[in-house]
Amino acid sequence: MVSSYNAEMIITLDGPAGSGKSTVARKLAARLQIAYLDTGAMYRAIALRCQRHGCDFNNPTQLIANATQAQIDLDCGPTHTRVLLDGDEVSEAIRSMEVNQATPYVSRIPAIRQILVEQQRRIGRDLGSLVSEGRDQGSVVFPDADAKFFLDADLPKRAERRYHEMLTDGVDTTYEAVLENLRTRDGNDQHQWAPLLIPGNAIQINTTHLNISEVVDMLLKEIERRRSILKPATQS
Ligand code: C5P
Repeated sequence: MVSSYNAEMIITLDGPAGSGKSTVARKLAARLQIAYLDTGAMYRAIALRCQRHGCDFNNPTQLIANATQAQIDLDCGPTHTRVLLDGDEVSEAIRSMEVNQATPYVSRIPAIRQILVEQQRRIGRDLGSLVSEGRDQGSVVFPDADAKFFLDADLPKRAERRYHEMLTDGVDTTYEAVLENLRTRDGNDQHQWAPLLIPGNAIQINTTHLNISEVVDMLLKEIERRRSILKPATQS
């Protein structure tokens, strides 16, 4: 049971692909009745735009110019994120294996990160409360977040989860291809922000042997604990 304490609250959830963070973040946001922000969708949308404009992914100048012109609108719901890129619905297109592979080429460019970090902070300011999910949410984007979590899981388990998600999204792929893609992305993602990845004050949870509701319950319990420390006397 979640109390009715309504103060503004920023919760960050970081971790590698397949750690369960997207599903957990959505469910957590729904239980707390606050917004959910899928920041990976923003990086994916930029990568898709660069693909569609025929950019050379080894040419940062082209990628940055493209990202600067992108108009991304997100509607992050309890089951799926709806993404508009320059007014076009791209919610499914950003989940393809090609976009999976292209995204680290844009996410490793500091100027592109800066553009998206500013957009994410603006969303946070406008909404007041949210669960924000990504790689750098607790470390870079919202360093003063009220609660920070870092989820991880063993690579084969993460690949299995991501494979099932992709099948559900109608993507034609194999477990082996997903495993290989995650292995490469881990390497790419890791070398660009390893020192920033796990904020010192984040609670780390290995989800390999946990199901989603167990993880959500753990997070809710911790958030409740913090709320009761902050506002013990005024709660009903
Ligand atoms: O979380 P998701 O798998 O959708 O993220 C796709 C990619 O976007 C990641 O592999 C990473 O390269 C990038 N990303 C990022 N910073 C974030 C979220 C995602 O660089 N906050």
